[in-house]
Amino acid sequence: MQQSNAEFMSRVTSIFRGGISRYALYAFAIALVAVLVATIAAAMLTGLPLTPAGLYAAQTHNPMLLALDAVPFIFALWGQGFGATFSSDTDNQRPRKRAGDDNEKVALQAEARRLEQEDALTGLANRGHFLKQLDAALQTAQLDRTRVGVIVLDLDGFSEVNDQFGAANGDRVLKSVARRLSNAVENTGAVLARLSGDSFGLAIDTLHSNGVLEDMAARIQDVLAPPCTLDKLSLNLAASIGGAVYPDHATDSYGLVNAADGAMQHAKAGGGGFELVQTALPVEDAEMHSLSAELRAAIDEDQLVLYLQPLIDIQADEVHGVEALVRWQHPRRGFLPPGEFIPRAERAGLMHDLSKWVLRRALEYNAALRKEGWSIGVSVNLSARSLLDPEFPDVLAALLAEYDVPSEVLTIEITEDTLMSDQRRTMDVVTRVSNMGIHISIDDFGTGYSQLTYLKRLPASEIKIDRSFVTDMLESDTDLAIVKGTIELGHALGLRAVAEGIEHENQSVRLRELGCDIIQGYYMGRPMPIDKLREWLAEWQLHHQSRAVAIGESSHSR
Ligand code: C2E
Ligand code: CA
Ligand code: CA
Repeated sequence: MQQSNAEFMSRVTSIFRGGISRYALYAFAIALVAVLVATIAAAMLTGLPLTPAGLYAAQTHNPMLLALDAVPFIFALWGQGFGATFSSDTDNQRPRKRAGDDNEKVALQAEARRLEQEDALTGLANRGHFLKQLDAALQTAQLDRTRVGVIVLDLDGFSEVNDQFGAANGDRVLKSVARRLSNAVENTGAVLARLSGDSFGLAIDTLHSNGVLEDMAARIQDVLAPPCTLDKLSLNLAASIGGAVYPDHATDSYGLVNAADGAMQHAKAGGGGFELVQTALPVEDAEMHSLSAELRAAIDEDQLVLYLQPLIDIQADEVHGVEALVRWQHPRRGFLPPGEFIPRAERAGLMHDLSKWVLRRALEYNAALRKEGWSIGVSVNLSARSLLDPEFPDVLAALLAEYDVPSEVLTIEITEDTLMSDQRRTMDVVTRVSNMGIHISIDDFGTGYSQLTYLKRLPASEIKIDRSFVTDMLESDTDLAIVKGTIELGHALGLRAVAEGIEHENQSVRLRELGCDIIQGYYMGRPMPIDKLREWLAEWQLHHQSRAVAIGESSHSR
């Protein structure tokens, strides 16, 4: 009852809400005209004049006409009511429809947002969303002068799981890992995300001490410890974990994740476990803070320059190839040699992108030179990071295909140190790369501690005697013995011997006598940009034509 009263009241107010309706005006006008016509007719019938006074008299003499005067008002009221009903009916429909539309739109928007932010496989936040959340946390931390910790973890041996059990099982493992990690971070306030493949990230705000990161890493190892069953086989999971702290190791989300990633790679190279970024940002050198961000921009904006240094086959007196050596044309600091940014790029976890840039440019140059008739090889330096990346061989294959360069043209130079530091893991990638037909060169040979048994198994094509031995080989008997011994060792293992750092003619003469295969050094040619190399090649051809050396055909025999 109370409800029907209320309904009635709301109905009445709705009749007048929104002002006088046009239906009320029409009804009023029609009824008024009808009353007027009736009054005129009555006046004419009774012989009254058709003046306002006559019409008034007709009205007052006829009670029916007087009663009819109420009709326009009744009609107006009806019109108002009809209009309100009519419009409220359509109104009633419209909001319902609009609400439906809105709900659907809101739901679709929410779904799109979710898809944008979420990793489809695990349902965790994806890398982009993680970086955004981290940015927000860093802004707050900057204002509150608090610290933020980031953990990057990468499963150990996950590529083997994929290889042995198939991608579907790999996905199952990743889902299980995601669930376990969610459990580990539950109630800690940490943000968890899947960054890529088998790598996950964690952000912890208001970090009270670095010990919190260590504890979290231990917790992660604990939840991963119970074996995971796949096809009735139980699989032991472990992860390498890296940690970085704002503002000690980086000041932006990207740098922080990269720093933690670098620490993780370092931990992996050392056999797994947890590692915090070792080097704090030097507070006094504000420029260093932004170097990793700048280097990222340098990669994206092509500030890097690839120099090429000739490699000469001294036995055949031919140009064998070139070594690609990167430089950075920094907008403010000028021309930077690799020693000034490669170690930093390694720490910031940028080597993957940098190596990819170098490879791309090196192959692009090689393809161009090939078209001009110079079918020579190209050697590219790779850091440990790339070798630990199971996807690297695929990257290589894609780039070779893109530039249509035969794989045997490419030599990958890996320092002896890198190869020896994590033999099991590097062996995997090196083998895959070598199986593709790409040559492997052991760079800076003699500076590390090679195990001959490992060296024997390594599918390498050449050893590159370190410059330090070549420099003094004519003055120091010990260095000469090392150079001679290395050439012989290389040949005994079926490898090409390469010597670098040749600055004088007599060094090259001696190396040829010793049976060295390839030499490289300032004496023959410094590292130079591609256009200078073209001039250098033309000059070389001119001087060696008399000896009938066909650079075009046989220079790349191996
Ligand atoms: P590296 O691989 O041992 O390269 C040879 C270095 O010796 C080059 O220095 C080259 O300019 C220099 N060199 C060549 N001939 C002579 C010579 O006759 N005398 C003297 N004094 N030096 C000579 P650069 O270009 O400064 O490179 C230094 C190191 O930076 C390289 O050593 C390599 O380890 C690293 N690097 C350069 N480019 C790359 C790259 O694209 N990726 C990676 N991962 N490392 C790179
Ligand atoms: Ca090298
Ligand atoms: Ca070297």
